[in-house]
Amino acid sequence: MDHARYLIVGGGVAGTVAAETLRTLDAETRIVIVSAEDYPLYSRVLLPNYVKGKLPRQKVFLRTWEQYTTKNIEVLRGRTVVSVDAAAHQLALDDGARWQYEKLLVATGGQATVPPPFAGLPHVLPFRTLNDADRIREEVARVAALPEGARRAAVVGGGFIALEFPPFFAPHGIETHLLLRGPRYWHRTVTPEGSAVIEKLLESHGVVIHRNVEVTGAEKTANGLLLALSDASSLEVAAVGVGLGLDSTAPDGVPHNDGIGANAQLETEQQDIWTAGDGAEFDDVIAGRRRQLGNWLNADQQGRCAAQNMAGARRTFENVSQYSTHIFDMVIAMAGDRPETATPRVVSDGTKHVELYERDGILIGATMIGLAAERAAIIAAIKTKQKSPL
Ligand SMILES: Cc1cc2nc3c(=O)[nH]c(=O)nc-3n(C[C@H](O)[C@H](O)[C@H](O)COP(=O)(O)OP(=O)(O)OC[C@H]3O[C@@H](n4cnc5c(N)ncnc54)[C@H](O)[C@@H]3O)c2cc1C
Repeated sequence: MDHARYLIVGGGVAGTVAAETLRTLDAETRIVIVSAEDYPLYSRVLLPNYVKGKLPRQKVFLRTWEQYTTKNIEVLRGRTVVSVDAAAHQLALDDGARWQYEKLLVATGGQATVPPPFAGLPHVLPFRTLNDADRIREEVARVAALPEGARRAAVVGGGFIALEFPPFFAPHGIETHLLLRGPRYWHRTVTPEGSAVIEKLLESHGVVIHRNVEVTGAEKTANGLLLALSDASSLEVAAVGVGLGLDSTAPDGVPHNDGIGANAQLETEQQDIWTAGDGAEFDDVIAGRRRQLGNWLNADQQGRCAAQNMAGARRTFENVSQYSTHIFDMVIAMAGDRPETATPRVVSDGTKHVELYERDGILIGATMIGLAAERAAIIAAIKTKQKSPL
């Protein structure tokens, strides 16, 4: 049986940064990453620009295989960890190989949820990986070449990833329908005024918004799919963008709910197993509650922190999380803690819209829609625990 002191499941940013951090702390030890994707680290954040044709494919890569070799980090490429035996400190791969580890990091992120009506159907487009981005590009080109009446796409989901699709479709003259399960876009995340700003932007680019609907069935047609909707209507589309969140890909033997539970040091309940990144549900000491975050900076910083702790430190993870994206020409950004139960203070002129979360007069989080100049000052205030500049 092969043996590694440090074994890392997942070669995304959390896993890669963890491996590199461990190497800086220990020049000799064997460090192995098991990576289901056969690519060196690439930026998921840059994938939308690649799909839009604004960035060549090779520019999404953040590492080369040579860089892993130079750092003496082994990567088991295209391999999946199927199970972990925490008591024996062993794990099994999909090719039947078994490995012994001393310290394990589970940094498995998540895979895009594809709900049952779409399972196994063509023209259904989740968006998580570079392979997904390649498929989306192909499908956008295919749909754009259809006759005008057939150039129609649906997007399901009311979160950030769903928002990435309309700018892929609309510039190609593809009629785009956004299907929301809730009454408005981001209804759990922003106030009705905040939703209205985003919906106005989408509608100004021709997006048709359907509220309180779910896809209850889908069947293949000549050019795409016929969707049955919960309001008894139907919609024929050539492709469907799916932005419905993530499913856990934690191996068997690693307990998880939505995420893999961990304390504030990113240590799981199982001995010598840590977790980091999108898949980690950790005790957030800044927010004072358990959270699971899906952003690049968080995954990077958690990879670093978990690695230090695997090497013997007792660092508590503390980070002000941030996410920002461009939808058409508007920047939508979030930072810090935005408790679902809290009511934010809204500063808005209908196009620039900010929702500020304050505790005892101190800014703890913000959602910023269409805001440019003031964004940095707001994030700085959250980081330094100051009052809001607005
Ligand atoms: C299209 C898109 C746009 C985004 N835009 C932004 C943005 O603008 N700003 C921002 O902050 N964040 C953005 N994000 C989110 C950000 O990319 C993620 O938070 C970050 O990549 C998470 O990194 P991770 O290492 O935790 O997980 P991942 O990147 O998901 O890496 C986990 C890796 O582990 C592999 N794996 C899973 N299970 C196993 C297993 N059992 N065995 C072996 N390998 C396994 C997976 O295949 C994957 O390669 C975006 C994400 C997407 C998809």
